[in-house]
Amino acid sequence: MAERDGGTAHADLAVLADGVASATRHLVTGARPRVRYAGHTAWRGVTSPGGPDRRPPVPDAATESWGRGQRFGVVPLVDGRTYWFATATTAPGGRAPGGEHGGEHAEVLRRFTGWHEPVERVLAATEPTGVLRHDVHHLHPHPGTCVRGRLVLLGDAAHAMTPDLGQPGGMRSRFSSTHVRRYRSGSAALRPRSASS
Ligand SMILES: Cc1cc2nc3c(=O)[nH]c(=O)nc-3n(C[C@H](O)[C@H](O)[C@H](O)COP(=O)(O)OP(=O)(O)OC[C@H]3O[C@@H](n4cnc5c(N)ncnc54)[C@H](O)[C@@H]3O)c2cc1C
Repeated sequence: MAERDGGTAHADLAVLADGVASATRHLVTGARPRVRYAGHTAWRGVTSPGGPDRRPPVPDAATESWGRGQRFGVVPLVDGRTYWFATATTAPGGRAPGGEHGGEHAEVLRRFTGWHEPVERVLAATEPTGVLRHDVHHLHPHPGTCVRGRLVLLGDAAHAMTPDLGQPGGMRSRFSSTHVRRYRSGSAALRPRSASS
């Protein structure tokens, strides 16, 4: 492996886990699969425990509400706070004036004011500077392979998919345990250096 400072490092295995915009994926897949904008942006936040509204913010179960080109989800957390997410079909790269310093919070409020209870209450109980915004991307087509020699792709570098499929984080854990098992068993696809040379 070449290092940035011009040196080299030796390893039995290199795990390439540099995310959806991976700069190393092509070392495994050859041609670069396209990273595609999924057509929507997503905001996320968590209510603060001492926020303006201390009532239990949501019912016990997680819910997702659908509107025209927009979705809003609430997930109760064990400590009484609420995780929420909101999505909107929009052009990629958009940012509200003021960004994550309060601008994105205002943008979500603007879009979701008038939605049913407890949407507005959950937003009011969220610190305005605590709202994240990320465009959602996925890989298309799927790279087909995640292993080449001693190189292994992991996580979004291997199989970035939209979060509404409810799988990306779990897939990363599952793939990593599968890779470890194959490596330990000396599988032909992931053979340790000592076994192959
Ligand atoms: C809005 C949104 C909501 C989501 N919700 C969920 C959810 O509810 N459940 C779920 O399971 N998944 C969810 N996901 C997906 C989940 O976040 C990803 O699947 C997961 O983070 C992928 O992990 P990763 O380690 O592969 O990549 P990342 O988390 O992207 O980590 C890659 C890391 O590599 C680093 N890196 C990149 N290049 C270099 C380099 N050259 N040198 C050194 N470091 C580098 C980056 O800085 C980063 O820290 C969501 C994603 C989004 C965008």
